[in-house]
Amino acid sequence: MNSNQEWKARKDAATPRGVGVMCNFYAERAENSEIWDIEGNRYIDFAAGIAVLNTGHRHPKLVEAIKKQLDQFTHTAYQIVPYASYVELAEKINKLTPGNHAKKTAFFTTGAEAVENAVKIARSATKRPGIVAFSGAFHGRTSMGMALTGKVDPYKIGFGPFPGEIYHAPFPNDVHGMSVDDALSALTTLFKTDIEPAKVAAIIIEPIQGEGGFCVTPVAFMQALRNICDQHGILLIVDEIQTGFARTGKLFAIEHYGVIPDLMTIAKSLAGGMPLSGVCGRAEIMDAPNPGGLGGTYAGNALAVSAALAVLDIIEEEKLSERANYLGERLTKQLHESMKENTVANRVADVRGLGAMIAIEFKHPVTGMPDADFTKKVQAYAMSKGLLLLTCGVYGNVIRFLFPLTIPDTVLTEGLAILDAALRVN
Ligand code: PMP
Repeated sequence: MNSNQEWKARKDAATPRGVGVMCNFYAERAENSEIWDIEGNRYIDFAAGIAVLNTGHRHPKLVEAIKKQLDQFTHTAYQIVPYASYVELAEKINKLTPGNHAKKTAFFTTGAEAVENAVKIARSATKRPGIVAFSGAFHGRTSMGMALTGKVDPYKIGFGPFPGEIYHAPFPNDVHGMSVDDALSALTTLFKTDIEPAKVAAIIIEPIQGEGGFCVTPVAFMQALRNICDQHGILLIVDEIQTGFARTGKLFAIEHYGVIPDLMTIAKSLAGGMPLSGVCGRAEIMDAPNPGGLGGTYAGNALAVSAALAVLDIIEEEKLSERANYLGERLTKQLHESMKENTVANRVADVRGLGAMIAIEFKHPVTGMPDADFTKKVQAYAMSKGLLLLTCGVYGNVIRFLFPLTIPDTVLTEGLAILDAALRVN
């Protein structure tokens, strides 16, 4: 059998560097919150396939659901031969998402595709061109996803020109000196200098910016956006791709805001590791595009849909929203414990998040500037001790925690001990 090193050499020769790879080992198997590589090394997984595994690797119920579907059929193309499970999942999502109004849901494959389709639907329903997104936002790697994304390196470098009629407004972020009032007045200015609000189809926002650094949208800002949208007939699209499915202590993060979106994009933990995404929204808006305007060959794949139905059951049965709060509290307590040591505290700019969607942001102890180098050191040390951590943030100076919400307490404790040591690296 080949070693990790041999596969790395083969990977470098066979695949482009643009597909950046974080780990230098190759996965062999995984169970709940642990991964083993092809050399038998074990890793505690605080990355969860980038927020995909809220229900853990290979949850028995999910495996059973996929196996059952595998014995029936794998693919008919829903738009050619439909299947009931797609409809059943749409009904469930319509019921579980905020708001008592009539809703409809369409399924796709990736998060970026959900975003693309949310924009298509919003433009089709409003007959307006403009879309407003925020600095620091991440909405995917397709042309539209990139255009909406508010972080240049590495997502946009060399890939332009981007689709037109996309506008960016500053995201309110106290740590980086942008207050809610400043951000709102910048939006007002945007409407004066760049696009009239009557030409804006939608404003798209993540309740908590994921790739952008786990920056929590202030409640006052989200509510103000809802008012602005209502005032000008603009649709509010909430991108719940990273925040959804119990991660923040509620099934959807927007439930923390008392705001009802017009459209919502979902993906990642929706199907626990199977590729599935969706757009859910007001029925009349969702019905704007003509038949055939939405969909895709694999959109709403049967295996992925069966997995998603299992995920929704698991979240409810195992009370994963409540567990997210408990896990988030344990993590935050540990971070504050580590910060009792001055050398650690001096490097921390912020600890923030909602539920188990928690991140720690690092600054240089002397200059106070964002410290991406130290962030990488923490990540590398943790990996050398068997703990997978993901970085994020516009300045690459944030570590985000995304362990499965099904992580056993013992494994969490083990992971937190490695994290504590990692925060003390020099
Ligand atoms: N939106 C958000 C908020 C995301 O976090 C991501 C993925 N990180 C995407 C869209 C794109 O999803 P995908 O990578 O599945 O295309």
